[in-house]
Amino acid sequence: MTQAPYEIDVMISAKSIAARIEDLAKIIESEFKDTDKLVVVGLLRGSFVFIADLVRELDLPVEVDFLEASSYGDGMESSREVRILKDIRGQIEGRDVLVVEDIVDTGHTLHQVMEVLGTRHPAKIKSIALLDKPARREVDMKADYTGFEIPDEFVVGYGIDYAQRNRNLPFIGKVRFT
Ligand code: 5GP
Ligand code: MG
Repeated sequence: MTQAPYEIDVMISAKSIAARIEDLAKIIESEFKDTDKLVVVGLLRGSFVFIADLVRELDLPVEVDFLEASSYGDGMESSREVRILKDIRGQIEGRDVLVVEDIVDTGHTLHQVMEVLGTRHPAKIKSIALLDKPARREVDMKADYTGFEIPDEFVVGYGIDYAQRNRNLPFIGKVRFT
């Protein structure tokens, strides 16, 4: 695949991410402290690094599951549909669920995933996003917990790709075309 040349500028360092995840883990621990039935559901693929670091900071009994959602435009931004390409393996009825997303952008993905999982009667369901781009929102949706609010820039790294590359960068970087 040919691509315009670009460089990546660090936006959020690996150290800042690690510090923020320690704080978020404490908040999640207090939110779910009385439960022994928490399932942490990562949205593939962008959240794989975040969920790995987050669960290792959680001093709670947790199960991990994954869901892959794909959004596609039908030419009308406001009626964007989200399909579930790969569903979670486990049942969540009566369970406590924490949905882990990389970025909340227009909000459609997280909104629809929460709606679908919500119909399965979890005892409690919360969401966490590493990044939030509030400027891009199209639906009234905010993760219950957010790592960092960022401006409307295209970012990569820490699990997040540009044309499937750069997921392995340890920091969040901003793509700059050169
Ligand atoms: P939305 O909230 O618009 O439904 O979609 C969120 C998804 O869009 C994220 O999970 C991510 O896959 C993708 N996305 C949004 N902003 C960015 C970005 O800056 N970089 C990359 N690589 N993906 C993004
Ligand atoms: Mg995503």
